[in-house]
Amino acid sequence: MSQADVERDLATIRDGLPPRDGKRHRVIVVGAGMAGLVAANELVRAGHDPVILEARQRVGGRVFTMREPFAPGLYAEAGAMRIPRAHKLTLACIEKVGLSVKPFTMHNPNAWCHLFGRKMRLSEFEARPELLGAELAEHDRGLTSGARWQSLLQPFAQRIEQEGDAAWPAIVSQYDGYSTREFLEERGWSEPAIELFGLVCNQEALMNSCFLELLREEVGNYYTDMVRIDGGADQLPNAYLPFLRDRIRFGARMTAIDQSDHDVTVHFQTAAGRSVATGDYAIVTVPYPVLRHVEVLKPFSHAKRRAIRQLRYDASAKIFFQCRRRFWEDDDGIVGGGSVTDLPIRNVYYPEAGKATGRGVLLASYTWAEDAQRWGSLSPDDRIEQAIEDVAQLHPQILEEFEVGTSWMWHDDPYAGGAFALFEPSQQGLLHEHIVAPEGRIHFAGEHASLAHAWIQGAIESGLRAAREIHAKPV
Ligand code: FAD
Repeated sequence: MSQADVERDLATIRDGLPPRDGKRHRVIVVGAGMAGLVAANELVRAGHDPVILEARQRVGGRVFTMREPFAPGLYAEAGAMRIPRAHKLTLACIEKVGLSVKPFTMHNPNAWCHLFGRKMRLSEFEARPELLGAELAEHDRGLTSGARWQSLLQPFAQRIEQEGDAAWPAIVSQYDGYSTREFLEERGWSEPAIELFGLVCNQEALMNSCFLELLREEVGNYYTDMVRIDGGADQLPNAYLPFLRDRIRFGARMTAIDQSDHDVTVHFQTAAGRSVATGDYAIVTVPYPVLRHVEVLKPFSHAKRRAIRQLRYDASAKIFFQCRRRFWEDDDGIVGGGSVTDLPIRNVYYPEAGKATGRGVLLASYTWAEDAQRWGSLSPDDRIEQAIEDVAQLHPQILEEFEVGTSWMWHDDPYAGGAFALFEPSQQGLLHEHIVAPEGRIHFAGEHASLAHAWIQGAIESGLRAAREIHAKPV
């Protein structure tokens, strides 16, 4: 997204869409996640008449703060948990609705690194990665994986700084076909160095995704300076409720969509039976794995059908433990940040919320792709039992302090169908424009219909775009 586009979108969040003459449009918005809420909000402010069909009994979609089964004052972020300060649109929405943010600690040198059967503090490992026993060649030693990776990205960052957005088309055409693994291999990284990078930088499960996904995040500073919404991320979507409440129909699952030259009809299912909603236009924000199971009565173009079929989604699993005591802070001096392991739990995060209760909710495991799929194959009780065993290798105190656990598998969620869109090599060039393009009177939004995949920013950006597209329609 160019700087000019960001400025335009910030102006929309602040002042609304520009005034226009012409008919007000009735718009069926499918999905009350951030994309649908933002789109509907701007349409109402501009004088249009949107209604929102939402399959769940809540707004927010993948912004989902679990407040159960936890004790009062405690919660866990099953979906979005951190926001880069570089995400200006997300921060503008947070500010607009009057929420406050607190720093989100990404890196904590006191956290644990548990790899190849050895456990040490991240600071120790970063000083001497060979201590872990990774079979690093002489020339791979002395530089952490993170530092080596940063030095590889430096030329990209410089190029973008010098040429601005104009640098991207050439970068995309050169690297769209690369996975991260292929990129590292081409740059001469040895297999042990790639393995260590994958483990320590939490990229192992994503190594075959398009390199551009990671590049965009890295040069965009997505992981450097982050914040969290104080009191829970769900407050952001919930803040749209008072304004949109009467326009939202909960428990309404789109089953089919149709259009003619002058209107769009969405067929939906509620607990009471089948119904239809008709409007001048529709904005469909449901993730593509879900849309794949929706009947499209007037078939979409071949390019759109191929995009819906082929777009790759990542899997993601989170497992949470409520603990009687914040032993990671009290005993180990770990306040915020995360530990890395090669155990099935992979990454443990130490959320800073809930301190006033004396208790804490540990993100006992945060996994993606293959790692997440495997947790999904276990029963909910077995997930907790297995994760306790793993966490005990880092924090034996868990055996005494565990109170209750829960888990969320986004790839098993019927209204998500995956965690987020994540291009395979070549998918940006092959699919992106067709993911975003409208089909007649049906427009598309959602994180997948942006290039900020897997971020609230992408949902907001796409919701604003879809609202703008419809606002520009004369009839
Ligand atoms: P959704 O939120 O999925 O909204 C789509 C809506 O459509 C949902 O409410 C759904 O219930 C509804 N729906 C689905 N099917 C139907 C149907 N048939 N009929 C009617 N309604 C339907 N972003 C960040 O910025 N920071 C983070 O730290 C972060 N971490 C994440 C961690 C995880 C594990 C996940 C899964 C996501 C994370 N994200 C993060 C990404 C962010 O949560 C999403 O990009 C964003 O919330 C997506 O919004 P959306 O509106 O595009 O989609």
